[in-house]
Amino acid sequence: MASSVQKRIGVLTSGGDAQGMNAAVRAVVRSALHFKAGVYAIYEGYQGMVEGGDRIRPLAWDDVGSILHRGGTVIGTARSAEFRERPGRLRAARNLLQHGIDRLVIIGGDGSLTGADLFRREWPELVAELVRNGEIDSATAEQHPALMIAGLVGSIDNDMVGTDMTIGADSALYRIIEAIDAITSTAASHQRSFVVEVMGRHCGYLALMSAIAGGTDYVLIPENPPPEDWEAQMCELLRHGRTSGRRDSIVVVAEGACDRQGKPISADHVRQVLEERLGEDTRVTILGHVQRGGTPSAFDRWMSTLLGYAAVQEMLAATPETEPQMIGIRYNRIDRAPLMQCVKQTHSVAQKIAAKEYADAMALRGSSFTEMFKMFKLMAEAMPSVALPAQPRRLAILHAGGLAPGMNPAVRAAVRLGLDRGHVMLGIRGGFQGLIDGRIEELRWGDVEGWSALGGAELGTNRQIPTLEQFYSVGRSLETQRIDALLIIGGWAAYKAIYELYRERERYPAFKIPMICLPASIDNNLPGSELSIGADTALNVIVEALDRIKQSATAARRCFVVETMGRFCGYLALMSGLAGGAERVYLHEEGITLKGLQADVESMVESFRGGRRLYLAIRSERANPRYTVDFLSRLFEEESHGCFDVRQAVLGHIQQGGNPSPFDRILASRLAARCIDYLSQALEAKSTESAFMGLSEGKVTIFPLKQMPDMVDWTYRRPKEQWWLALRPLVQALAESTASPEQEV
Ligand code: ADP
Repeated sequence: MASSVQKRIGVLTSGGDAQGMNAAVRAVVRSALHFKAGVYAIYEGYQGMVEGGDRIRPLAWDDVGSILHRGGTVIGTARSAEFRERPGRLRAARNLLQHGIDRLVIIGGDGSLTGADLFRREWPELVAELVRNGEIDSATAEQHPALMIAGLVGSIDNDMVGTDMTIGADSALYRIIEAIDAITSTAASHQRSFVVEVMGRHCGYLALMSAIAGGTDYVLIPENPPPEDWEAQMCELLRHGRTSGRRDSIVVVAEGACDRQGKPISADHVRQVLEERLGEDTRVTILGHVQRGGTPSAFDRWMSTLLGYAAVQEMLAATPETEPQMIGIRYNRIDRAPLMQCVKQTHSVAQKIAAKEYADAMALRGSSFTEMFKMFKLMAEAMPSVALPAQPRRLAILHAGGLAPGMNPAVRAAVRLGLDRGHVMLGIRGGFQGLIDGRIEELRWGDVEGWSALGGAELGTNRQIPTLEQFYSVGRSLETQRIDALLIIGGWAAYKAIYELYRERERYPAFKIPMICLPASIDNNLPGSELSIGADTALNVIVEALDRIKQSATAARRCFVVETMGRFCGYLALMSGLAGGAERVYLHEEGITLKGLQADVESMVESFRGGRRLYLAIRSERANPRYTVDFLSRLFEEESHGCFDVRQAVLGHIQQGGNPSPFDRILASRLAARCIDYLSQALEAKSTESAFMGLSEGKVTIFPLKQMPDMVDWTYRRPKEQWWLALRPLVQALAESTASPEQEV
């Protein structure tokens, strides 16, 4: 029987599987071992708990090695009819107590979490009954008077109120966007129409976000059914799109989409409408379980890692009086909320939909969901929603800084939303030099067609910052081209340039126009924004590369030293370390010291001697000017004494390439929408203020340009505050393998 002092945590995955569950399981197991708790996997969800025996097993450090990249759940999931009944739960309680487990981390959907809460409430009676039946002794009962639980939401639908994202939703969006991008190219070749059905019985998250990220024409979601005459309206919209330059039409339908009478709208019905009313050759693609499958995205890996770590902390701090919490994520930070309150609110969305109270259902989804829905409609409509003014204002868009995937979707959104306001939209090719040279052209609705999926930057970008000598030419160009407002989408060079222009505005009156900077940089080193466009795509590219690197090393005992981009900002290195399961991450923010390297070498050698096969070290590009990748590799090789070999990989520019991730496309559209709002309002108010903007604590926030110096570290080209630095201890906690369950029991 278990000792009375050690806290023992059980972890299970239950209900529908979701990509990222493995990352959460790994984090729970390793964090528990890190904090010297016992940790047990309960295989096959509640069914395993009811069955007991070898379905409940202690896990060691290495049992959760090499699972981060795997879809599904390695500890299995099931639906259990027996657990729904009290006798099943009685057996489950007995089986847990046999191992001394009275703390559970449940990774599942609302059904699983409801079941967990019921089990927790019944626990004292179940324990009393087990004593009466003689199945456990009273000492055991006294040691475990309560069941403490923490819930993590595993659901690809992103349907839980109380967390911004659920485990699996980002990866599911990836799968959908891969499919929509593929469909778009074939549809465009044949000028065809496609109806794509995505998952989401009560939740339109996947449908709406994939419609935005995929640049589709129409979307049908459960929370906000289309107007009565939607068939006619949809056809009209698609017709306009075609005459304005689209070569394909794509309609996204959530599986739970209904009309205003509550009658389901099937993908096939949409197909019939398009064929009959538009005479279009229309195909239906139902994505189905593809959405659950495949490797988890970088976000699902690092978020689930954070969640698992936090759940263990929650469980170790829990007392019998603690109200069970759902551990979720809000604005990229861990957030706790009373479990059953979240489940109840989630159920109430479905109830509101069933009662046809759609405004309430949308309100429960939150303001940004509603905002995104409106934005999608504006971008999909080729007709401006306002009457064109006699003297339209001329808004120009320019890129500066390194390439960031997501620049094209940002331009697309800005152009379409700007046109919708009645502005003339101008694209400046080739950054500030392009502005000086007058390489400026009008961009119409159809000109940016297809840009939501495009990597690179169609307008071109470079790191040029206008010099003092060039200010005059910049000013002249702004005047001769009659540019009324400027949107700069880019990285450090963009921010520096706009600040220089702002400072020189008294000497060059032409600079007195509203300007705004939209953060786009894979480095994620821009002030005022916790995330910049491109960083998520780059992170996914890195994590994919790490998967391959790790795979390539399975046949040997090997240390890999991998260098990521980011200049002086360690975001990509740290987050890819978390998402890729690195043992060590070197950041400029922390520096590299000889003493630290010596300790690293010692622990590395010791762990290889103890049986380790792979050690992954990630070094941020400018972590240290002298302790280079090459230096580190040679140092490790020398000290390995033949116990392991060392390879290095500098990932280089592949990190700037690739099509933008769904998240980057969505963020690009969301930020561009606010930039157009800002510039339009400034023009209306005849203001000449300038600003930069970004996501701050999850909200799109605009900062006056004069605040920039207070927020940046000019020497190291990064913001003074970097939220993700708080995640550093996780890398170490999940990398060290000093503890093993055998030592503790
Ligand atoms: P999800 O967790 O993905 O919503 P389900 O609703 O199928 O998936 O729930 C998974 C399992 O959780 C069920 O098979 C059952 O064992 C358990 N469960 C769900 N709801 C309850 C409940 N109300 N009472 C007891 N157990 C439940």
